[in-house]
Amino acid sequence: MDTKKAGFNSKLIHAGGIEDPMGSAVTPIYQTSTFRFKNADHGARCFSGEEKGYIYTRLGNPTIDDLQNTLAELENGYAAVVTASGMAAVNNVYLAFLGAGDHMVSHNSVYGPSRGVMEKLYPKLGVESTYVDCTHLENIEKAIRPNTKLLYLETPANPTMGITDIAGAAAIAHKHNVLVCVDNTFCSPYIQKPLDLGADIVLHSMTKFINGHADIVGGCVVAKTKELFGEIAYVMKNVGFNMDPHQAWLTRRGLKTLSVRIERAQANAKKIAEFLENHPKIDWVLYPGLKSHPQYELAKKQMAGPGAMMSFGVKGGLVAGKTVMDNVHLALLAVSLGGIETLIQHPASMTHSKLSKEEREEAGITDGLVRLSVGIEDVDDIIADLDHALSLV
Ligand SMILES: *Cc1c(COP(=O)(O)O)cnc(C)c1O
Repeated sequence: MDTKKAGFNSKLIHAGGIEDPMGSAVTPIYQTSTFRFKNADHGARCFSGEEKGYIYTRLGNPTIDDLQNTLAELENGYAAVVTASGMAAVNNVYLAFLGAGDHMVSHNSVYGPSRGVMEKLYPKLGVESTYVDCTHLENIEKAIRPNTKLLYLETPANPTMGITDIAGAAAIAHKHNVLVCVDNTFCSPYIQKPLDLGADIVLHSMTKFINGHADIVGGCVVAKTKELFGEIAYVMKNVGFNMDPHQAWLTRRGLKTLSVRIERAQANAKKIAEFLENHPKIDWVLYPGLKSHPQYELAKKQMAGPGAMMSFGVKGGLVAGKTVMDNVHLALLAVSLGGIETLIQHPASMTHSKLSKEEREEAGITDGLVRLSVGIEDVDDIIADLDHALSLV
């Protein structure tokens, strides 16, 4: 079915555009490394691009195409690549658009390894970077230099829930001929479509909401234009960031329920955020769906909903936060996010432990900050679990 004009939920189920010759309702797992040519001329036509035929799985595979085509439609992009992990997607973008003498501007509390790898490996390639609080647009403008090539955003940011105005940031970047990439992992295209807001590239850790079942690691990059896609696809194919067909199939299956999963998790999250905000042992809650979020209005403007991620501070700082994490039974004490199960974690000692204490504080990641990824369990059970753990503080 041609889903180009269909609604988002119909795309989730039917997009992909791969027709199976056997008539299978679901695109099968083409678990093969290579494809047989009909004859030498056919092989030559596939290589020259004269004919769209499959050659070798690192370069293309029907199961992988099914997922890539779907993601491009969901994000309103030109085309997508899928990668072995979210970090492969991040590095795919860095390598495609940054080289010796180039500079990148990014948000100070982006996903830990997205900053870590930029500051550790990329200086070896002659790439410089500046991390600022991008939730204040004037910081972006100040950080841009004549050699800045990429503005790399993540919004809402991990784990501070800081929101960057994508349209505003893109307008500043484009004035200086700087490309804009948004890590849309926290939202998924169901909640936020960065390309529609002015970004040039969007990426995901599909390990999170897109697959949604905590059973694969994967990533994707979606480009707005053919030219950008060409640069991205070259890196994916030749650096070898590609995804395995079985991983792609599982992800495509998980993706079908994205809307229903997020609707449920988000409804749970709204109730949990209100419960926490009114709890006497809680200092503060940061959730884009609460009026107390400093960027509540901006969140409402650029996101279709507040999502299922929040962070909070327990009165008594780290010790109290640890008591909560050690006494939940339904929520899993685990990193990652966006799955059907509720996860709780402590960024200062876990996901953001590679940053120095000063860098963490500058980014708003205090020692007492606890991050919650709300799942699709019964909300009363999640609240009872948190309430019990808080009662021991
Ligand atoms: C998890 C995550 C990544 C990295 O993805 P992996 O699949 O773990 O490699 C990148 N960005 C964000 C926001 C993430 O949450």
